[in-house]
Amino acid sequence: MAETVTNWAGNITYTAKELHRPHSLDALRTLVAESDHVRVLGSGHSFNEIAEPGVDGALVSLAGMPAEVDVDTAARTVRVGGGVRYAELARRIHEHALALPNMASLPHISVAGSVATGTHGSGIRNGSLAAPVREVEIVTADGSTVVVGRGDERFGGSVTSLGALGAVTALTLDLEPDFEVEQHVFTELPLAGLDFETVAATAYSVSLFTDWREPGFRQVWLKRRTDQPLPDFPWAAPATEKMHPVPGMSAVNCTEQFGVAGPWHERLPHFRAEFTPSSGAELQSEYLLPRPYALDMLHALDAIRTTMAPVLQTCEVRTVAADTQWLSPAYGRDTVAVHFTWIEDLEAVLPVVRAVEKALDGLDARPHWGKVFAEAPRVVRERYPRLGDFRALAGALDPSGTFANAFVRDILAD
Ligand SMILES: Cc1cc2nc3c(=O)[nH]c(=O)nc-3n(C[C@H](O)[C@H](O)[C@H](O)COP(=O)(O)OP(=O)(O)OC[C@H]3O[C@@H](n4cnc5c(N)ncnc54)[C@H](O)[C@@H]3O)c2cc1C
Repeated sequence: MAETVTNWAGNITYTAKELHRPHSLDALRTLVAESDHVRVLGSGHSFNEIAEPGVDGALVSLAGMPAEVDVDTAARTVRVGGGVRYAELARRIHEHALALPNMASLPHISVAGSVATGTHGSGIRNGSLAAPVREVEIVTADGSTVVVGRGDERFGGSVTSLGALGAVTALTLDLEPDFEVEQHVFTELPLAGLDFETVAATAYSVSLFTDWREPGFRQVWLKRRTDQPLPDFPWAAPATEKMHPVPGMSAVNCTEQFGVAGPWHERLPHFRAEFTPSSGAELQSEYLLPRPYALDMLHALDAIRTTMAPVLQTCEVRTVAADTQWLSPAYGRDTVAVHFTWIEDLEAVLPVVRAVEKALDGLDARPHWGKVFAEAPRVVRERYPRLGDFRALAGALDPSGTFANAFVRDILAD
């Protein structure tokens, strides 16, 4: 019987009438080798058609495959299966007194899907979630496995790969010793006179939130590693109650605040693993720009805040350290990222997305691969200096275009 497969937000219904769930590597190999077009669906947290397999394509989930999480404490690495989510990975790593350097706002997302889209958390010295990946295992169109590790000349295209090279069945990540984090929330940080660089550097991970109903930021979240100094934050007042990034929403599903120290994986995400993250009824967009443009970006957005505010739930500003993945939105440049949680009405949101893109014109903004954007593929393409290298890699690993879909073909078009 036909099943309806949608993304997490419910704004995308995939054309595939079945979600294939192979239970073994051999079953996956056979399925891939016998299909003309294949797309792997991770945890479905993207908001656009990046995972759409096309009308005659097979949509595949790896969630039924053995959920491997093999921690090597001596080497300080973990090998994780292609269907595993961060919540499970983090719990298992923590059991070995080890840690990942950073996490996204929620732990519900799959590791393979997150690194495929350049997903990131915050912190001026923290790269995207792809940064700790040292090796990736990919089942390519003929059903064979290709292993690409750091040092291989193909590595720069192989982690943040938009799912276009094959089915990622395992990733090996570098780990570090366990650490603890406290969360301190402040309210009402003015935009006037903001020293963005200084504020962004006050803690291991810093997020600024606003709904743009007024100028400036409603909340600042500092995530301090307890092995680093407690920052002074004279620019805003400490929060007096536990906060949710979306004003008015209960903070019950948010991670612990008020400086209560806890393990890295229970503080670095904003949302707790056991609850529905964020608002649930939403769309998201995000743009990543060179960090020196942060203030220009904030003032450009401030100038259109009355356009954004009616369809905006919250806007978050974070930082990401430069990385070396060719298609990473943080490729080659220390980055400021501006994220929007919109209401779930695409018709109302799209014109505002276009207004945001117009406001950011000239600031070299790269859209988040997994979120809603309207920028023409030609424009996006020009913002990636190594896109040609990625196109060549995709041509070499997937010559028949089995893992290409309309989204990827548009981006890679020559
Ligand atoms: C509530 C919410 C909060 C979010 N917070 C953040 C955040 O803090 N920071 C941020 O940067 N983003 C954030 N995102 C966006 C999210 O991290 C990305 O959309 C990410 O891709 C989600 O991973 P996924 O497994 O759900 O990917 P999917 O949407 O399932 O897939 C994304 C891409 O990865 C490919 N893919 C997935 N698994 C595999 C595999 N095993 N092999 C090959 N290709 C694969 C798919 O084909 C597709 O191209 C958030 C999204 C939501 C819904």
